[in-house]
Amino acid sequence: MTKETRIITLANQKGGVGKTTTAINLGTALAAIGERVLIVDLDPQGNASTGLGIERSERVVSAYDVLVGDKQLTETVVHTAVPDLDVVPSTMDLLGVEMEIAGSADRVLRLRNAIRDGNHGYDYILIDCPPSLNLLTLNAMAAADSVLVPLQCEFFALEGLSQLLQTVEQVRSSINPRLEIQGIVLTMFDGRNNLANQVVADVRAHMGDKVYKTIIPRNVRISEAPSHGKPAILYDLKCSGSQAYLQLASEVIRRERQLKAA
Ligand code: ADP
Ligand code: MG
Repeated sequence: MTKETRIITLANQKGGVGKTTTAINLGTALAAIGERVLIVDLDPQGNASTGLGIERSERVVSAYDVLVGDKQLTETVVHTAVPDLDVVPSTMDLLGVEMEIAGSADRVLRLRNAIRDGNHGYDYILIDCPPSLNLLTLNAMAAADSVLVPLQCEFFALEGLSQLLQTVEQVRSSINPRLEIQGIVLTMFDGRNNLANQVVADVRAHMGDKVYKTIIPRNVRISEAPSHGKPAILYDLKCSGSQAYLQLASEVIRRERQLKAA
């Protein structure tokens, strides 16, 4: 692995907050500006794999084989239609990982070891987590330099955040001292909705400059894109959602450079 690889885990134990959408479109945006990017799909639902156009029949090997089997990371990589954007796909087998590796001493470090051992040359590895703080998510946090938390602009946005931050803290104090919260990205924002504006103000008040300046708007093009097997940025570059993800990518790069320098 090159020293320069930055590994970012997208985590939130709530489902439907924009983890997968952010992994796909942030990954595409980073690739579009010249970074070599790998998305690791750790959600048994496999939405990131589907959204990147990887048919189930193409998922012969998957993240499961990295965590449980003896496959090298690079042996499981599939290219996507986006140049410089690859994916380690998910299969339903991932549902069984917890049971299968629970008894092994290195169960939380499986992904980290695989990424460290692999001579892959990626600039960024984005790990898309399932909606749970389970062993898959812990593997993702153990492997990462930083955590990116998508929060949906809705009433209960902050609910559950303290549990997530606590988990990050536990991982930091036990197995991965370098783990940082890269930032919190507000998603599915609808400016016509007063509540959404209130949520943005609340989250900024609580989390300060951990919150990215970029806010991802609710945008129908974003939700249509996965059914075409394409990142929104390829499906409709001009739409407000794609533009926001491009902006987020430059913020992420800036923060990663700061974290790396620190
Ligand atoms: P998670 O991975 O956290 O479960 P997803 O990224 O799958 O969340 O998003 C949940 C749903 O919301 C998906 O159907 C997705 O297409 C849709 N969605 C995500 N972000 C947006 C957005 N900015 N505008 C409109 N729909 C969105
Ligand atoms: Mg998801």
